[in-house]
Amino acid sequence: MDFAPSGRSRELQDRLTMFMDEHVYPAEQRFEAEIAEAGDPHHHTTVLEELKAEARTRGLWNLFLPHATEWSEGLSNVDYAPLAEITGRSILGPEALNCSAPDTGNMELLQQFATDAQKERWLRPLLEGEIRSCFAMTEPDVASSDATNISLRIARDGDDYVLDGRKWWISGAARDRCRVAIVMGRSDPDAPPYRRQSMILVPMDAPGLTNVRSLPVFGYQDNEGHSELHFDGVRIPADSLLGEEGGGFAMAQARLGPGRIHHCMRAIGAAERALELMCRRVQSRVAFGKPLADQGVIQQWIADSRIEIEQVRLLVMKTAWLMDTVGNKGARIEVSAIKVAAPNVALRVVDRAIQAHGGMGVSDDVPLAMMYAHLRTLRLADGPDEVHRMSVARRELRRYESA
Ligand SMILES: Cc1cc2nc3c(=O)[nH]c(=O)nc-3n(C[C@H](O)[C@H](O)[C@H](O)COP(=O)(O)OP(=O)(O)OC[C@H]3O[C@@H](n4cnc5c(N)ncnc54)[C@H](O)[C@@H]3O)c2cc1C
Repeated sequence: MDFAPSGRSRELQDRLTMFMDEHVYPAEQRFEAEIAEAGDPHHHTTVLEELKAEARTRGLWNLFLPHATEWSEGLSNVDYAPLAEITGRSILGPEALNCSAPDTGNMELLQQFATDAQKERWLRPLLEGEIRSCFAMTEPDVASSDATNISLRIARDGDDYVLDGRKWWISGAARDRCRVAIVMGRSDPDAPPYRRQSMILVPMDAPGLTNVRSLPVFGYQDNEGHSELHFDGVRIPADSLLGEEGGGFAMAQARLGPGRIHHCMRAIGAAERALELMCRRVQSRVAFGKPLADQGVIQQWIADSRIEIEQVRLLVMKTAWLMDTVGNKGARIEVSAIKVAAPNVALRVVDRAIQAHGGMGVSDDVPLAMMYAHLRTLRLADGPDEVHRMSVARRELRRYESA
C-alpha cells in the first residue's frame, strides 16, 4: 500500500488550511447571523457566495473530481482524502469549494452517465457552483435501506415518463438553488430485482412535484434541508432518463462509493476539530484546584480520541488507495467498513469533547452539538450501519464457505 499524498496534494493542503483559517472559520458566525436575519433556515447566504469566489480565485474548486476531464485536472482519492478532511472541519468548508454532498455524487453520476445535452443543462452549472441538486431515493412507504424496495413509479407514456410516488429525507431539496433532482424509481416492476429501477433527471419546478416539508434533525433545520417530496403525475421528456432503463440500481452503487468515502473523510475532519476544541478547553478550565487537563480521565479521553482517529484515518486511506488502484467496485467492502467506522469514531470523539466542555458543549457557542447531530445522521444516511456490517460479514463468511 502506498497512500502518501503527492506533492500537489500537500501543496493544496497548505493552501486549503490557510483558506480555512483566514476565511472559513471566521465566516461561521456571520453565516448563522445571516440565516437568523433572513428568518429562513434554508436561506442562501451572501457569505457563502463570497467564500466560493475566494476559493475559486485560490484554485480550490471542484477538487473532488477523481479523473482528469475537460472540467478539472482531477485528483486521486488518496490525494483528495486529506483535503476533504480539512473541509469537514467546518460546515461551510465543503460548499465553499463546491465539494458538498449530495452535489459531488450527483456530478460524478452525470459525468459518467449523462448525455452531452444533459451535461450541458445540469453538469456545467453544477460545476460552476451556480445551482445545486438533490438525490431522491429514500421513500417513507418502504424500508429503503434495501434499494430493491424502491417503488416510486416511473412509467413510460409516449415520448414522456410519468412519475408517481413519495420520497423523503431528500437532502438539499429545500434550497432555492436546488434546480434538479436525480430520482430513482421503478420503471419495470416485472424485471429481475436489480433491473427494475431507473434514474431520471427531474427539474425541481416540474408541474406535479411538491416539496411538502423539510424534516428536522434532532430539532435542527439544516441549511440544506431534508425534504419530503411528492410526485403526482410528474411528466418528464424521455430524454431526461439518466443512463439506460433498468440501470438505476447499478448507478446507485456507482454513486455511493465516492459519496461515502467523502462523508468519512469529512467526519475525520470534524473529529479532529472536536479533539482540538477539547484540548484547548481542558487546559484553560480549572476545577478542584487544577486544570481539567490534569485529570487522568480527561487524558484518557484525549488519548483514546487520538488513537481512534489515527486508526480510522488509516482505514480510510487504505480504502482511497484501493479505489484508485482496483476501482470503486473492488473497494466496495472497505467502503462499507469505513462507512461504519468513521462516523462512530467521530461521534465518540465529539461526545467526549461535549462532556469536557460541560454545559457549553451542548450549546451553540461551540459547534459540537451541531456536529454531533450531523454525525449521528451519517449512521443512517447512505445506508445504515447494520447494512454495511452485513456486507462486511458476508465477505468474511464467504472465505469459510467451502470448509
Ligand atoms: C439526515 C439524513 C439525510 C439523508 N439524505 C438522503 C438523501 O439525500 N437522499 C436519499 O435518498 N436518502 C437520504 N437519507 C435517507 C437514508 O439514506 C435512509 O434513511 C437509510 O438508507 C435507511 O432507510 P430507511 O430510513 O427507510 O430505514 P429502513 O430501511 O426502514 O431501516 C430501518 C432500520 O432497520 C435496520 N436494518 C435495515 N436493514 C438491516 C439489516 N440487513 N440487518 C440489520 N438491521 C437492518 C437498521 O437499523 C435501519 O436503520 C437521509 C437520511 C438522513 C437521516
